[in-house]
Amino acid sequence: RELTVDLGERSYPIYIGEGLLDEAGRLLAEHGISKKSPLLIITDSNIADKHLARLESVLRDGGFAVATAVIPAGEASKSLSRLEQLVGIALERGLDRKSAIVALGGGVVGDLAGFVAASYMRGIKFVQIPTTILAHDSSVGGKVAVNHPLAKNIIGAFHQPELVLYDLRTLQTLPEREVKAGLSEVVKHGLIWDAAFVAWCDENAERLLALDPEALGYALYKGCSVKAAVVSQDERENDLRAILNLGHTIGHALEAVAGYGELLHGEAISIGMVGAARLAVQLGAPEEVYRVTKRVLSRVGLPVRLPAHLDTDAIMRALMHDKKFQEGVVTFIVPVAIGKVEINKSVSASLIREIVEQLK
Ligand code: NAD
Ligand code: ZN
Repeated sequence: RELTVDLGERSYPIYIGEGLLDEAGRLLAEHGISKKSPLLIITDSNIADKHLARLESVLRDGGFAVATAVIPAGEASKSLSRLEQLVGIALERGLDRKSAIVALGGGVVGDLAGFVAASYMRGIKFVQIPTTILAHDSSVGGKVAVNHPLAKNIIGAFHQPELVLYDLRTLQTLPEREVKAGLSEVVKHGLIWDAAFVAWCDENAERLLALDPEALGYALYKGCSVKAAVVSQDERENDLRAILNLGHTIGHALEAVAGYGELLHGEAISIGMVGAARLAVQLGAPEEVYRVTKRVLSRVGLPVRLPAHLDTDAIMRALMHDKKFQEGVVTFIVPVAIGKVEINKSVSASLIREIVEQLK
């Protein structure tokens, strides 16, 4: 499958298919990646064992000069010190303004490598080869960043890739928990935009969990398409892009309280989306919004209830830290029907507390 992300001034393709890694040499050359300047593949320690050798050999066979950097797996690598180290490697390997950075990995590698590409020599070309389901989300929109100890994703830029190559075979080695967590954002894209796709996820949950290439390819295609549609209508974070935050207000608070690690991001927003659906019903949405949201998410193996030991007061305190929370009301993305959300700017803290209690 092929999809074009069109963001006004520039557009780029996302290729989704089985075995695309084997065609990386041809595809990079076709999209203007230079063979005269060295390129740098950035990947993490888990992916390196599984998929790096193949990519390196395909690109070398294709005539590219390839350097490689392997970072430790995990969110902690999205740091300024890791950025500095990678810039050092880029300099040592002679990357110049015509060079490209190739991100082989999930959202961590994509965000970090993308920010290296955005900042090295004020910006060089960037290619994404996502290896997680969640990374379909980060492959559209051009947001790249590292974390600061005080805030996630706070040092970053907008930098669009030249192309995205999604090889479904690389996903076959994903741990099961990462598969499910990635599907959470896929379902989210259906819930905010496309009721027919939600029904499809409902019917095809087992195929998705089994990593059936055809089902997976379709789901990633739809997820990327929805994100692209939303982002292209709102490239710089005005109102519409906020709908991508469905489930994230409660979800972020849960991640903070559970301690990063206990709940994966996708798991936290799954519970958050169920909460948002419950809240929507209390505000007058049809009951099926709650019923269907909960059913689809549980079918793809995601949690739909709060872990009982999480304390409501702590969750509410974490919510109050959210910059969106002002004077006891919060802007909340409310699913008013399956496939349709509204931005409600005056949801009260007390209503959210009630919902959190009901999620246990
Ligand atoms: P991740 O990159 O940490 O990958 C999850 C885990 O799976 C890691 O341990 C990784 O080593 C492993 N892994 C990756 N691919 C594998 C494979 N094919 N086989 C085996 N193991 C594999 O996390 P993620 O969930 O992909 O991404 C999360 C990050 O993405 C966060 O930092 C988040 O901020 C960022 N993000 C960015 C955007 C954006 O728009 N830029 C959007 C969403 C999320
Ligand atoms: Zn998210």
